[in-house]
Amino acid sequence: MPSVRRTDVADAQWYDWRWQLSHMLTTADELARVVALSDGERAGLAASERLFRVGVTPYYASLMDPVHASCPIRMQAIPSPAEADIRPEELRDPLGEDSHNPAPSIVHKYPDRVLFLVVDRCGIYCRHCNRRRLVGGDDPPTTAELDAGIDYIARTPRIRDVLLSGGDPLLLSTRRLDDLLGRLRAIRHVETIRIGTRMPVVCPMRVDAELVGALRKHHPLFVNTHFNHAVELTPDAVLACERLADAGIPVGNQTVLLRGVNSSVRSLRTLMRGLLRARVRPYYLFQGDTVLGTDHLRTPVEEAMRLYEGLRGWMNGMAVPHLVLDAPGGHGKVPIVPSYIEQLGTDTVVVRTYRGERIAYPQPRERDCTVAYDDVYFAGQPPDDDREGACD
Ligand code: SF4
Repeated sequence: MPSVRRTDVADAQWYDWRWQLSHMLTTADELARVVALSDGERAGLAASERLFRVGVTPYYASLMDPVHASCPIRMQAIPSPAEADIRPEELRDPLGEDSHNPAPSIVHKYPDRVLFLVVDRCGIYCRHCNRRRLVGGDDPPTTAELDAGIDYIARTPRIRDVLLSGGDPLLLSTRRLDDLLGRLRAIRHVETIRIGTRMPVVCPMRVDAELVGALRKHHPLFVNTHFNHAVELTPDAVLACERLADAGIPVGNQTVLLRGVNSSVRSLRTLMRGLLRARVRPYYLFQGDTVLGTDHLRTPVEEAMRLYEGLRGWMNGMAVPHLVLDAPGGHGKVPIVPSYIEQLGTDTVVVRTYRGERIAYPQPRERDCTVAYDDVYFAGQPPDDDREGACD
């Protein structure tokens, strides 16, 4: 078994993303060389063979606390035996994606945007993954399926935005990714392209000069990554985010609220502040999805709201993500917003501040909010009806 510990590997290998991916730790024996596995982790690893693949890059494994199984990296990467406790309300496809597939590899749920699932592998197999039914297998989308996906996007003019996901799109070679982005960019109605990736977190060496050189050709392009804990914000990870930002690519972050991993105000504040310092905009804080075997990682919604109230107002608003849950069955994201309105009157609104004070806000006297200039500015243009072209 070749060593995958940082101290035993030459820099040239360690900083080669292909080496990282080809040396992922996937077994109890391999992980036991990095951390002292607890009985629970050993049981979880034994059960995982029939649940969901295990895999973590040597880089991400190097962030694990070797002693404490409560380490946030270990809890995201090493299964717990609780993963085998499948509850009746849990779903294989919690976001209802499989029923919104107008073309292979395409999920079209919202009117003006699609998900394009371009690969089925990742640089980590997260224990909370809501797409565990699709990733980690050996059934990647074929060239013909990707072609069919691009064809669907090209002949559907209401699609303004394409989100590349998977799996992790940055596992594609730079040449293939560049080619795919070029074909999407050539479609006139595609205004924006987004890439969802965890590689800056689990394999930051992937964000090399060649990659950013390819990505920067396809603006407007956005990257959304997935940091869940401040311990993931290493100098290498920060450098990866800065490289993207330096290439003019806005980087956002989607955190999943995970019980016992990041479910404290202090942990979330530290993460969000660290992200901003790394020039990454906290975007979403997700309530955990009802995916098979993840009940032990989900937080009660009222606890999510309490945590959110510990962020809003106490930190720079730029550091506060939207708290949302994905409605089971594919009904879309729903904001979870604690009410700061205590009384909504015609003359006065009573609000609750982040410090808990009750303050009266006087309403304006005029109530008609018509924008008269809309008739001039939008003259001759079709109505912007959200229902127009909506997908069933
Ligand atoms: S990187 Fe994303 S798609 Fe891959 S296992 Fe983690 S959450 Fe799932």
